[in-house]
Amino acid sequence: MALVNTHFLNLQNNYLFADVAKKVNAFKVMHPKADIISLGIGDVTQPLCPAVIEAMHKAVDEMSTADGFRGYGPEQGYDFLREAILKNDFRPRGIHLDIDEVFINDGAKSDTGNFQELLHWDNFIGVTDPIYPVYIDSNVMIGRCGIYQDGRWTNVRYMPTTAENGFVPEIPQGRPVDVIYLCYPNNPTGTVITKQELRKWINYALKNDALILYDAAYQAYIRDPEIPRSIYEIRGARKCAVEFHSYSKTAGFTGIRCGYTIVPKEVSVATFEGERIPLNQLWLRRQCTKFNGTSYVSQRAAEAIYTPEGKRQVQQTIDYYMENASRLLNTLRSVGYECYGGENAPYIWMRTPDGMTSWSFFESLLYGANVVCTPGVGFGPSGEGYVRFTAFGTHERTLEALERIKRWNR
Ligand SMILES: *Cc1c(COP(=O)(O)O)cnc(C)c1O
Repeated sequence: MALVNTHFLNLQNNYLFADVAKKVNAFKVMHPKADIISLGIGDVTQPLCPAVIEAMHKAVDEMSTADGFRGYGPEQGYDFLREAILKNDFRPRGIHLDIDEVFINDGAKSDTGNFQELLHWDNFIGVTDPIYPVYIDSNVMIGRCGIYQDGRWTNVRYMPTTAENGFVPEIPQGRPVDVIYLCYPNNPTGTVITKQELRKWINYALKNDALILYDAAYQAYIRDPEIPRSIYEIRGARKCAVEFHSYSKTAGFTGIRCGYTIVPKEVSVATFEGERIPLNQLWLRRQCTKFNGTSYVSQRAAEAIYTPEGKRQVQQTIDYYMENASRLLNTLRSVGYECYGGENAPYIWMRTPDGMTSWSFFESLLYGANVVCTPGVGFGPSGEGYVRFTAFGTHERTLEALERIKRWNR
């Protein structure tokens, strides 16, 4: 008899974006002619830049010749891309990593979801709340989160980030957390972390022998030079942190699938006997068994982001989205809403007016202005009373959405 992994049955069925889609569809059935603008789901809208397209065409042509054809590549990724990463993303910031510490991935979702496999099932995890749902769900699948009660998992430490604490999560007191998920710039709140605050987390991890899993998927959106773009800008991080990067939001790779994960050789975890096991070796072993690499064409595409033209073009698209972010921020504030984020991240986190719940504001915005946002509570209990707007739309549609919101509020 084939038995199910019952941990999967504990997952909450309601996948946030599926619920949003269901409600939007219900609205469409009643109002078939309505023109709905979505500032909800976090996908990008702008095409790949010319440098990337050119590199992909070239890679495809290579594949068509006997000499240029590439089959299985190295599981950790091609050196041409790993070198480009070290040279462009780290060395200029004074971070010296070894090439073997860079693992090319097929997107940060896979690796942030899979990395927990290397850890014993009864580690205690901590997440900032609200949070990208992948971190918790992937731990639920292995039975690490306890049971779901009143909107939270019993065996997860939620570290609230709300307007009340300035979106600065408090260092955990009491039972030590073994594995900490941090995501900065943050999805969904669009807020960032200062070097000073990040240092506190590294000190906590070093002191408690904890592991930090740091998701830097939005680092390209940081404009303030004082804000760290990588956790390794802080001393000591190499001993306790793994960092995930993605080209999805940086360069519109949501459909191409490529990013990378940094696993420093100094990061290790313990056995019950007290032996130290380096995560770098373990991750390599895991990847060689379960992953056959990101496609050659995708890796050539990613390499092109680091050429002078690629850098310029990618920056143009980021600026394009950030213009949306600043319009969203200014207009929503001028209407009287309380908004956060949007300055170093493509998300605006807005408090709902008059203490409305996330879902009731979501529905009134949908019915009143035909604009879709994402209910904050879908990202965790502390997201209640907030909604998220993304800056990934086109200028035209974003402006139109804002005009409607202004009219609706008059
Ligand atoms: C979009 C996103 C990612 C990137 O996922 P990919 O699999 O690389 O497309 C990772 N982390 C967060 C928080 C995100 O919002």
